[in-house]
Amino acid sequence: MAPPRIYKNFIDGEWVDSLCGQTFENLNPANRDDLVGIFPKSGPDDIDRAVNAAREAYKSWRLVPAPKRGEILFRAARLLQERKETLAQQMTREMGKVLEEARGDVQEAIDMTFYMAGEGRRQFGQTTPSELPNKFCMTVRSPIGVAALITPWNFPMAIPAWKCMPALICGNTVVLKPAEDTPLSAYNLVQVLEEAGIPRGVVNLVCGFGPEVGAPLVRHPDVRLVSFTGSGEVGRDVAAACASSFKHTCLEMGGKNVIIVMDDANLDLAVDGAVWGGFGTTGQRCTAASRVVVHKKVYKEFAEVLVAHAEALRVGDGLDPATQMGPLINEAQLATVDRYVQIGKDEGAKLLCGGKRLTGGLYDRGSFYAPTVFGDCDPRMRIAQEEIFGPVVSLIPCDDLDHAIEIGNSVIYGLSSAIYTQDVSKAFRAMRDMETGIFYVNASTIGAETHLPFGGMKQTGNGHREAATAALDFYSEWKSVYVDFSGKLQRAQIDNA
Ligand code: ADP
Repeated sequence: MAPPRIYKNFIDGEWVDSLCGQTFENLNPANRDDLVGIFPKSGPDDIDRAVNAAREAYKSWRLVPAPKRGEILFRAARLLQERKETLAQQMTREMGKVLEEARGDVQEAIDMTFYMAGEGRRQFGQTTPSELPNKFCMTVRSPIGVAALITPWNFPMAIPAWKCMPALICGNTVVLKPAEDTPLSAYNLVQVLEEAGIPRGVVNLVCGFGPEVGAPLVRHPDVRLVSFTGSGEVGRDVAAACASSFKHTCLEMGGKNVIIVMDDANLDLAVDGAVWGGFGTTGQRCTAASRVVVHKKVYKEFAEVLVAHAEALRVGDGLDPATQMGPLINEAQLATVDRYVQIGKDEGAKLLCGGKRLTGGLYDRGSFYAPTVFGDCDPRMRIAQEEIFGPVVSLIPCDDLDHAIEIGNSVIYGLSSAIYTQDVSKAFRAMRDMETGIFYVNASTIGAETHLPFGGMKQTGNGHREAATAALDFYSEWKSVYVDFSGKLQRAQIDNA
């Protein structure tokens, strides 16, 4: 077997080892004997170097015309397109998601890169009349400075792209700290940006662990923006660390998303949505449909068909085209899922299928868990309240639409929700009343597109949105510009009163 490849950080336009020389292993979650690569285990000194490089590069990058910045992004998007298959295969190997979904992840990065490249020629501001004569008013977007981007493992390329591309098109420079489980996809993205011609220091990649790399990055005094996607626990720490210096902070955290199935729903369609939303990406999406609230008139039938579908899912290595659900990301995540299953049983929820680790044959080499459905859940149970991040769906019966909405909103999160119904009035009522940043009608809770704002209400986030032009509002500051060509002192609110 060829020796494993050793990867590096990217700092100030150079591929470099961590200063301490330490490394960590990136393992395939479907087969822990498969070493995907060796990555630098960085520390605060590497962060210092990367932030310094980004701070210096900012001086010139902010002055590059945005359409020119866009040209680099267009080139990067085309390179990603050319390499899509290889990038997807590498992603499945490091993260486990089935190849079809890994292709979707790369495609999302492509879409975001093209989209933000186009924003280079837009970034429209406003012109507006002044209240005074011979005076002109407009708004322009200004870049902010060094952006610290901290990303999770479940979308190893899409999320780094969601954060890098709007940051760059607005004229900021970037230090990206990818999740320790999936540094290869971030490495590949940064390599593409380098090949596309990004100037030195504008994009920096520092691999490593949260406490040693993420924590000093968000605390660095020269970092002006922090965008974080991950757990609520770390998000709270990031928010607190940024508060004292008033860094701009965008937080994307958990979800406990719900599908509502009314008695008039197309049940086959609703089951398809529940299977895709609950078990797609092995349930490891922040938009995963981990709760399904079903009208009591159709509850029994729905539960039976859902369980049949869940039991029929082929679980295995995501690189095998026959596989429909891959492994969990690592053993710690598997232990968390298993713990929640035990909690569900102890709470009195009815285990309808799954509920155990898969063993035997190839399963023994990876972190595989059976698709799991709990029935007759009380909405107050912990399995119906807390994010599990695994292939576990809780079914909750309801009496009517009002009851379903009340249950749907009874969690601390507010990322995504969905309703299956043929009744347009019910669909619009749910659209209005669900406290989530994303809402679907007759479609599952997952499937966000890059040109619409992405983010959640309540404790999912802190009020910002990623993607779409909404992202530009985070990665730039509005500057209001007044040009007085009257040739005399004109006092607003006084001379025109
Ligand atoms: P998950 O449970 O999805 O792994 P985490 O919140 O633990 O979510 O991790 C998300 C990202 O945040 C990862 O890149 C991780 O390394 C990083 N991270 C973890 N702890 C910290 C921290 N204290 N400060 C900053 N970043 C951190």
